[in-house]
Amino acid sequence: MNILEEKVLVLNRLWQAINVCSAKRAICFLYTGHAKAVESRNGNYELYDFPKWLEYSQNNFFSGTTSDIGNDNNDFIHSVSYLVKKPNIIILSFYLGYPNLRIKLSRENIYKRDKYTCQYCGTKLDQKKLNIDHILPRHRGGKTTWTNVVTCCFNCNLKKGGKILSETNMKLLQKPRAPLRYPLQNLHIETRENNSWAHFVDFNKWEVEIGENREHLPSSKQASLTENRIQGILTTNI
Ligand SMILES: [Zn+2]
Repeated sequence: MNILEEKVLVLNRLWQAINVCSAKRAICFLYTGHAKAVESRNGNYELYDFPKWLEYSQNNFFSGTTSDIGNDNNDFIHSVSYLVKKPNIIILSFYLGYPNLRIKLSRENIYKRDKYTCQYCGTKLDQKKLNIDHILPRHRGGKTTWTNVVTCCFNCNLKKGGKILSETNMKLLQKPRAPLRYPLQNLHIETRENNSWAHFVDFNKWEVEIGENREHLPSSKQASLTENRIQGILTTNI
């Protein structure tokens, strides 16, 4: 693959993975000040604006200094004026938005969230041997929501029956919540990139409700939003 077409992970300003883009586009974002490169070194994440990234690229190329995932000279883009290392991850400087995408509340997704483990006794089981338990039972007003359902083995399900937790001696292993991290759907992610992306990306293949392929990158207009409008985005999109 042409290095300019290789995939770069895009984080919003809150360090949430929101998309991938081509290396070419990532470098444009760096050049125009819309993003900084993120590099993991000695376990820390360091940010580089374009001039610093150029300097870092040069130093790396000539000294062979490596980041945590290593470098080789195939990671470098040579242009007439620049020698630039392909970033693996960029963080947008202005964009706070988050994809408008909900992870569907389905049996399959509940099993995935709970890692196919009974949330009362901790037994890991095959999907066929798991039930979905309403923590507050439906007949007592419990709703089917991410925070009120968990996977449960047949034994625990039987033991709990229609009771609420305080009427039993059973305890939840953890408080259930909706999956938080944005799942990057339907992307061809290469193994080498997984290493540096894994901290930010949930590689589970969640079922999602809508719009899994929507682009969520800033246009130049969005990137130059005034503080007021950024505040607006904060309150409406997150
Ligand atoms: Zn159990």
